[in-house]
Amino acid sequence: MAEPQADFALIGLAVMGQNLVLNMNDHGYTVAVYNRTVSKVDEFLAHEAKGTKVIGAHSIEQLCKLLKRPRRVMLLVKAGQAVDDFIELLIPHLEPGDIIIDGGNSLYQDSARRVKEVEAKGLLYIGTGVSGGEEGARRGPSIMPGGSPAAWPAVKNIFQDVSAKVEGGTPCCDWVGEGGAGHFVKMVHNGIEYGDMQLICEAFQIMRDGLGMSVAEMHDVFAEWNKGVLDSYLIEITRDILAYKDTDNKPMVDKILDAAGQKGTGKWTVNSALDCGIPITLIAEAVFSRCVSSLKSERTTASKILKGPNGKIPGDKNTIVNAIRDALYASKIISYTQGYMLMKAAAAEYKWNLNYGGIALMWRGGCIIRSAFLGKIKDAFVKNANLTNLLLDPYFTGEIEKCQTGWRQTISAAVLAGIPTPAFSTALAFYDSYRCDQLPANLLQAQRDYFGAHTYERIDTPRGQFHHTNWTGR
Ligand code: NAP
Repeated sequence: MAEPQADFALIGLAVMGQNLVLNMNDHGYTVAVYNRTVSKVDEFLAHEAKGTKVIGAHSIEQLCKLLKRPRRVMLLVKAGQAVDDFIELLIPHLEPGDIIIDGGNSLYQDSARRVKEVEAKGLLYIGTGVSGGEEGARRGPSIMPGGSPAAWPAVKNIFQDVSAKVEGGTPCCDWVGEGGAGHFVKMVHNGIEYGDMQLICEAFQIMRDGLGMSVAEMHDVFAEWNKGVLDSYLIEITRDILAYKDTDNKPMVDKILDAAGQKGTGKWTVNSALDCGIPITLIAEAVFSRCVSSLKSERTTASKILKGPNGKIPGDKNTIVNAIRDALYASKIISYTQGYMLMKAAAAEYKWNLNYGGIALMWRGGCIIRSAFLGKIKDAFVKNANLTNLLLDPYFTGEIEKCQTGWRQTISAAVLAGIPTPAFSTALAFYDSYRCDQLPANLLQAQRDYFGAHTYERIDTPRGQFHHTNWTGR
């Protein structure tokens, strides 16, 4: 039998898989590929992978025989049952020390379970986030691996070689942690992506409806914003989307139905925040905003019945546009603050030793939320690895302070004009709650104690001492 020749195997030749294989090939790795619908293997070799070193396999057994040891087999298939099915098919063809890697958008609890199941068979397992879509997979994604620590040295070089690079060649890939840590961090990344997109959309709606700006004018605003603190991939693509014309030379964006889809990673982020008791309010509003948008026919009916202000914002357009920018930036700081609060809570719960600055660096390039701003988050955690909250880092305290007037003015103007700003508003509500020494929860505790004898702590006795009052005297 011929000597095994392949450095790496990849199963799943859809958008992500094909592009990642070509990326690995560019970096000198010999990749063997397989796909459930086997004809796609031959099609890939005949077209996209023509002239490369990629080797096709027509069965899992053949694929595994092609691999040098330890065998490294990556799945880039639909998340869920397909991953479990492939693990089961692979195990009989692998030996102790071999590594199964799942690069899809798997639920982190599933990855934590799979690590245990695969390790019980003497193999190693990595559940890794891969972000950046098709272009990222081809040119350099952000890669967030977690799982069996013993597997990391065997995949480190290949992952870091193919990942995006920032700041003098630093790879946007590093070990995240044990169990489901890699997919947890990827999930939070996706939740933050939901938040960033919603914030941009709210800015767009205020400019379009409140200021009556044309798509061309808004294009110029986003182009300008992309040169400053908001410099990011999502602002950049928004600029380009606004420049794109349909065949009749009218803006394409105006032809698209306002009903948003979602695949579930935003919802997962919010669910896990609820489980951990972390107020991830901005991402939650972003998920719910997509839900509201999808009630299109109901909204159309309601728009003819429910009355409100006329949607116009009076005042100097340039001044208001600058205030909207400040609102977007301040809200974005809140969203990342909440995302980091969630990661900290999960790290405590699952005993992960997360490197928060390193995570910001991994997100700094290659992925959908990549931005200059993430460099500042990295700096904050490099300065103080035990930072309690991003808002308390002097840089971010100062940035929020600078934006605060515009942030409040934007929300006030939008409320008076009847323009919805769920993410801007919840961000400000969080900010005002977090900086508030006296919340009304004293009354809330009294209410709980009144109807349910749930007890309360007093301000004049030590924390942890609980009291009950017979409120009715009965
Ligand atoms: P996808 O559409 O999510 O999945 C298609 C691949 O999964 C095909 O290879 C398909 O095989 C296989 N598959 C589907 N159901 C299967 C089943 N029941 N059993 C076995 N194989 C099955 O592909 P993708 O968009 O390239 O994404 C791959 C993974 O990366 C997913 O987990 C996705 O969530 C994640 N991801 C995607 C993006 C993106 O921008 N697309 C970005 C980041 C992460 P057949 O060809 O036989 O149908």
